[in-house]
Amino acid sequence: MTKVLIIEDEPNMVLGLKDSCEYEGYEVAVARNGKEGLEKASAEKPDIILLDVMLPVMSGLDVCRTLRTRGIETPIIMLTARSQETDKVVGLEVGADDYVTKPFSIKELLARVRAHLRRAAKQVGEIENFTFGEVELNFKKYTARKRGEPLELSAREFEILRYLIRHRGEIVTRDQLLDEVWGYESSPITRTVDNHIARLRQKIEPDPSQPRHIITVHRIGYRFIE
Ligand code: CA
Repeated sequence: MTKVLIIEDEPNMVLGLKDSCEYEGYEVAVARNGKEGLEKASAEKPDIILLDVMLPVMSGLDVCRTLRTRGIETPIIMLTARSQETDKVVGLEVGADDYVTKPFSIKELLARVRAHLRRAAKQVGEIENFTFGEVELNFKKYTARKRGEPLELSAREFEILRYLIRHRGEIVTRDQLLDEVWGYESSPITRTVDNHIARLRQKIEPDPSQPRHIITVHRIGYRFIE
C-alpha cells in the first residue's frame, strides 16, 4: 500500500490532507513538527512526503536538507505559503522535488503526488546503470567497473547491491537480505550475509576498513549510501 507522510502543524490542513489521501486509497502517517517528521520519514518508510515549510521545532527546509544528507531519496512536495516566495527556491535547492503554494487545490496536489509516485516507481523498478564513488554497475549485463577497470562481481553480489541500492538511504536488515537475495532456497545464517558484505566491501569500497557506501547499522543490518 502506498504510504504518504504528512508533516504539517495546522490541524485543519492535516485533516483535509489526510482525508483526501485516504480517499485516494493511500495509507497516511502524520507528524506535527519537524523533528517528529524527520523521525517518521525514516521509521515509517513513506513513498512520498508532503512537507510544510513553517513547522515548530525544526523547519521544513531543515527536515528536507537533513533527509537528503542521509541519503533518503523519497519524493518530497513542499507546502509553501504565498508570502514565502524564497522558500520555493530554497526548497528545491535543498532537495525537494516539487512545491505547491497555499492555498492550493487538493486536486492539483493529488495529481502531483500521483506523478511523483509514478516517476519514483519507474526509477526503482528499472535500475539498469548505477554509479557511486568509483564504481559503475550495469544490472542488465551484470558488468561492473572500478576506476574504469573491469571489476569481478558474482551474481549474488550483484543482487545484494541491487537490493541495497533500491533501498538506498534506508536500513536494510540481514533478514530482509536473506529473504530477498537468498530466498528460501537454502537456510543460510545471518553470518552468511556479513561474510558476503565483507567481501563486497573489499571490491567496491575505496577503503574497506572504513566503508563509505555499505554502512553497518549496529545489530540491525546495513545502509547503502551513494
Ligand atoms: Ca505550518
